[in-house]
Amino acid sequence: MPSDAYAFVATNDLVGVTRGRSLPLSDLDPDVGVGWVPADLAIDAFGTLATPNPFGSLGDLRLIPDVDTATPMPIADGELPVTLMIGDQVNIDGSAWSCCPRSTLKHSLARLEQGHGLRLFAAFEHEFLLFDADGSKTGGHAFGLDRFLMEGAFGTVFMRGLSEAGITVDTWLPEYGPGQFEVAIKPRFGVRAADDAVLVREIARSAARSVRRRASFVPLPHPDAVGNGVHVHLSLWRGESPVLYDASRQHGLSTLGESALAGVLRHAHAIQAWTAPSQISHLRLTPHRWSAAGAFIGQQTREALVRICPITSGMDPARTYNVEYRAVDATANPYLALAAIVQAMCEGLDESLTLDTILEAEPEDGSVPPLPANSGAALDAWEADPIAVRWFASELAMTQRAVRQSEEQALAGMDPAERCAHYTAVY
Ligand code: GLU
Ligand code: MG
Repeated sequence: MPSDAYAFVATNDLVGVTRGRSLPLSDLDPDVGVGWVPADLAIDAFGTLATPNPFGSLGDLRLIPDVDTATPMPIADGELPVTLMIGDQVNIDGSAWSCCPRSTLKHSLARLEQGHGLRLFAAFEHEFLLFDADGSKTGGHAFGLDRFLMEGAFGTVFMRGLSEAGITVDTWLPEYGPGQFEVAIKPRFGVRAADDAVLVREIARSAARSVRRRASFVPLPHPDAVGNGVHVHLSLWRGESPVLYDASRQHGLSTLGESALAGVLRHAHAIQAWTAPSQISHLRLTPHRWSAAGAFIGQQTREALVRICPITSGMDPARTYNVEYRAVDATANPYLALAAIVQAMCEGLDESLTLDTILEAEPEDGSVPPLPANSGAALDAWEADPIAVRWFASELAMTQRAVRQSEEQALAGMDPAERCAHYTAVY
C-alpha cells in the first residue's frame, strides 16, 4: 500500500451522488468509520441543500465502511491513490439510521428472506455517454467496432477497474446512441448488487477522467436524444436454488415469480418515485425509446416496464432466467430503487397476486397504462399508496420530496433541452 494512500468512505445519496469523507487508509478504523451529517441527504443534484428538510442543522451520524466494497479508483499518473469504501450510515450509538439508503435495502431484503425464504440475485445494467475534453461525444457507429476501438484506452482502464472491484463483466459494448456505451455485469446476491451499481458508475467516471474523457450517466442528454437506461435484472433464489423459472408454465415464470411481478405492477407508480426521480427522468420513459413506455409486463418487448428476458439455448435456463425492471436511471439511488422493487415483490408474494396479461407484442400507442407523468406525480403516487408509504421511513420520503422540489426550483423557466443540459453537466 503506498504511504500516501487514502480511503474515501462514502454513501450514495438520494440523487445518486457518491459523497463521503476521506482519511489516510492506514488511519481508518472500519468499526469507527468517519463522521457524517443527516442533512447531507438533503443535497440536491445541483449541490443545493434543500430546505426545509426533516433534519436542519441537528444531529450526527457515522459512516461505517463495508470493507468488502473497498475498490481502488482508477487514477492518472501523479494523482492521489484513493480506495472507495461504501458505508452504512449509523446513529452515534451504532444503531442503523432510519434514512440510510443501504440499510433500507438491507431491511427490505430481510423481509424477503424472513417472510418468504428468498434471496435476491440481481444486476444493474448501465448505459452512458463518453465525451472528449472539448465536450464532443465519441464518434463512430452504433454498435461499431470503430467506436469501441476509439475508446480502447478508456475501456482498458474501465475493465481493469471493474475486475479489481471483483465485478465480472457480462458484456461491454458501443450502444445505439451517439457516443453511447453499455456495460452489463454478472448478478450478485443481496445488497452487493446495488453496491456494484455504485462502483460501476464511479469506476467509469474515474476511468474516463484518467484518460481525459468524461462519462455521463444522464438519463437523457437532450429531449430528442437516445436515453441512458439503467435496467435492473432480477431473479429469486431459495438457498442455492433459483425459483423464478418454471419450464411447465407460460413464459417460464413460476407461480411465485408471477406473484412477485404482480406486486411490482400493482405498486408501479409508487416505485417510480425512487427509480426515475429527477425532473427529466420521465422524458426518457416515453413510447418508442425502448425504455419503458407504460406500466406493463412483457416478454421480449423492450417497451415494457418489466421485461421477461429470453432464455438462451446452451445455458441453464433456471440459473439464467431473469426479468429486468427498465424504468430506472442513474439519478436514482440504486439501494432505494432496488428496495422499492423488493418491497413490492413482497407485497405480491404476501397476497399471492396474479397477472392478468403478459404482453408479447409491441404495444399500440395509448394501449398500455401510462407511468407517472413526472417526478412530482410519482411522489404523489407514493403518498397516495397506503401500503408503499410504510416501506421506507417517512423522513426519507419527505427528504426525497424536498430534494426534488429544490431541483425543480433550480430549473424553473427552463425548457426541456436546458433541463437535460443541466443534468448532463452533473451526471
Ligand atoms: N436506451 C434505452 C433506455 O433508455 C435502452 C435500449 C436497450 O434496450 O438497450 O432504456
Ligand atoms: Mg442497452
